Amino acid sequence: MAAETVFGKIVSGEIPVEVLAETDRVLAFPDMSPQAPVHILVIPKSTAYENVAELAAAEPETLAEMISVANDLAKEHANGDYRLVFNSGATAGQTVFHVHAHVLAGNLEERSLGAS
Ligand code: AMP
Repeated sequence: MAAETVFGKIVSGEIPVEVLAETDRVLAFPDMSPQAPVHILVIPKSTAYENVAELAAAEPETLAEMISVANDLAKEHANGDYRLVFNSGATAGQTVFHVHAHVLAGNLEERSLGAS
């Protein structure tokens, strides 16, 4: 079980967010510090997984659902093109240890692989 994080508080409703998409297993909301014209976070509601590899090993169907939700959101909020970023580990830039996908979209013209 991952330690309690800010995203656990978002799932429980303790911290309110603008819900952009929701399924039984997945929640999406805007990143509070956007790094692209469209910057949405997609998370599993489960607090059990710190990173994408843990989620993929235990619940691949939830990971697939996150990607499906991300794809739909990129169509809704941009032209359908997007970059999906999963930071895994502190030295890769992960600050919240509840697995999350950054959905970045909206004319990403720079060639870096980073989120900013
Ligand atoms: P990472 O650095 O990959 O762990 O990404 C964590 C992201 O969560 C950052 O881009 C933060 O801006 C974002 N974030 C942290 N707290 C909140 C919050 N309460 N609402 C929305 N986004 C948040």
